[in-house]
Amino acid sequence: MGKTSQESTAPPPRCEAHYRLLVEQQNDLIVKVDTGGRFLYVSPGYCKTFGKREEDLIGQRFMPLVHPDDQAQTEAAMANLYRPPHRCYLEQRAMTQDGWRWFGWSDAALLDERGEVTAIIGAGRDIHDSKLAELQLLQTQRMLELALEAGGIGTYIADFTTGEVFADARYLAQIGYQPEEIAITDEWWRANVHPEDLAGFTEQTGEVIHGGLNVFTAEYRFRHRDGRWIWLQDHARVYERNPEGVAVAVSGLRIDIHRRKEAELRLAYHADHDPLTDLLNRRGMWHVIRGIQAQGQRGHRPNAIAILDLDFFKCVNDTYGHLVGDQLLQEVARVLSAGTREADWVARWGGEEFLILMPDTTLTQARGFIERLRRQIETTPFLIAQHSLSITISAGLASSHIEEHDSHEAFVSRADMALYAAKKAGRNQVCTEAAEAD
Ligand code: GH3
Ligand code: MG
Ligand code: MG
Repeated sequence: MGKTSQESTAPPPRCEAHYRLLVEQQNDLIVKVDTGGRFLYVSPGYCKTFGKREEDLIGQRFMPLVHPDDQAQTEAAMANLYRPPHRCYLEQRAMTQDGWRWFGWSDAALLDERGEVTAIIGAGRDIHDSKLAELQLLQTQRMLELALEAGGIGTYIADFTTGEVFADARYLAQIGYQPEEIAITDEWWRANVHPEDLAGFTEQTGEVIHGGLNVFTAEYRFRHRDGRWIWLQDHARVYERNPEGVAVAVSGLRIDIHRRKEAELRLAYHADHDPLTDLLNRRGMWHVIRGIQAQGQRGHRPNAIAILDLDFFKCVNDTYGHLVGDQLLQEVARVLSAGTREADWVARWGGEEFLILMPDTTLTQARGFIERLRRQIETTPFLIAQHSLSITISAGLASSHIEEHDSHEAFVSRADMALYAAKKAGRNQVCTEAAEAD
């Protein structure tokens, strides 16, 4: 529509009436205030929201309606109206007839011909629900960030159609890298998982990537940038798959559990090992016997056990003292470990008793090995605290009965009885369960 000559010279009242009509028809809040913040105009929507009449508001300041905590930031934002581009956006709570609610205000200054601000037009919108949701989200984000920080937890997002992994700074720091320093791919990650942990890791990730499994949890060793192995714990979930079932959105948490894992492993080691000789203790050896016996029964192959006891050990303690006795036990443990095969297991079974488990070994073979050890100990002078000590051992041997049901306890007990027979027969000798039965 073209302008008439009348329209271009002075704003016609009819036109202003149209605008007024437009403003008054909508629910948005429109106000006009002077530079002192006093209302010059309030829209019906504003009056309705605040439960006030127009005549009660005109000439009053708007600030008392604003929440005390938001007044300073309102003033600070409105200061921008006095410099180009003479606009601002601000969010504040105001006291409506329904209580405090959040509003977003877009304000613009009206300028005179000298560029001085004469009044301010504000358009407000009730943003209460979205603002509360935003504040809630912010709160949740802060709590999450705090939890990740306190737990030393790194996060990542992976897309297995591309193999790309987007990792945060904490995740990278766990493995010794700075942000942006490396591009992590699924392939690179696998290449750095400890070989002993790789099979389980690959099997599980395969199911996660191609379907079947939506949650991935694993503890594994990973090569740190400096070359050492560190223990990591992974917990991830698939949030989206492509039509072929490949995981395209996986979110994961990664925790550095190195210290916890080391402590756990140390505890487990001490639970199964003897502190004096560093050999397996009785508990550890029972565990091994159970495993080896199960294997032997499956393969129908005999295992052999020898229980060795130092002869007249009490005399060593009585003559040289307990400390020398301890060192002699350590020396004997070394001889036994060095003198047995890779597949054999040696334990400190009791005070001065040792047990050797020989998997896949016949009684005759075992007798040969133990006889050799007996002779070696008999002929080895042990040099301890400037004393040259000679010692002998007695040993009892037993073989697992593979054709019939044979309990682990019965197996060990036969070796024990054979040892008793060796002691009875004069010590410094090896007896087999057969000999004991004679
Ligand atoms: P035998 O030939 O009949 O086996 O005689 P022995 O003296 O070796 O047997 P006995 O069972 O009478 O004594 C075993 C000794 O081993 C008693 C105990 O003081 C000693 N002993 C057990 N454990 C330890 C240990 O940890 N350190 C030291 N120094 N001595 C130990
Ligand atoms: Mg003894
Ligand atoms: Mg003994």
